[in-house]
Amino acid sequence: MSQRQPTLSELFLDFFWPNRCPFCGEIIAPQQHCCPDCLASFPPPPDVFVPLLDAAFSFTTYTPEAARAIHLLKFYNQPKLGAVLAKLIFRTFEQELADCRIDCICATPMHPKKQRERGYNQAERMATELARLCQLPCLPLLEKTVQTSAQHTLSAEQRKHNLRGSCRVALPDEVKEKRILVVDDVITTGATMNEAAHALRQAGAAWVGGISFAHPSFEDEYAFSKDIASISTKKIAHTSKA
Ligand SMILES: [Zn+2]
Repeated sequence: MSQRQPTLSELFLDFFWPNRCPFCGEIIAPQQHCCPDCLASFPPPPDVFVPLLDAAFSFTTYTPEAARAIHLLKFYNQPKLGAVLAKLIFRTFEQELADCRIDCICATPMHPKKQRERGYNQAERMATELARLCQLPCLPLLEKTVQTSAQHTLSAEQRKHNLRGSCRVALPDEVKEKRILVVDDVITTGATMNEAAHALRQAGAAWVGGISFAHPSFEDEYAFSKDIASISTKKIAHTSKA
């Protein structure tokens, strides 16, 4: 993917410990993030609809391949995969993110108890790498105050009520009048992003955008969001360059 030539030390390391595609295990060039076949398995995303966000981006559609990548990240103790997903997002939206004049990046928060169980917050791993690539600060602006049910186990209506008031701003001085990008692994109905955006706006954020690795197609979303047509939406059109 990158055109940069590998350094001698990278060639040496690659000889003994070849770089492998994090999704399928194929040997790949030292500078590649994943193999061409896996990259091709991630189709461009549908438009992302999140009412409280000023802009919303997603790298790919929530296909079985994307779901598997996120499953590996979340449940197979592969926090480094978060950096790979962030790199794929960055190479797709580098210009759009620059145009948004973002001040600070943060992750959707995870309740401390759940984070202790998993060992890491996968969204935070993605946010850290995305911020490094964008040369922006990544700060723990949000914190989860209530341990809520896993969103994927609930209906669209239950998702909205499940999260209400569950997240608050931890660093208000870093939020006031700032342009903030929130990172999550998946944007499904947008309930999690809305909750984050609501808290950030209440604390005086000037602009709130959201970005994720995957977003379901309208048909999939409709399956668990029968009332989607009634949701007041702000449509942010974008196309993937992947
Ligand atoms: Zn692969």
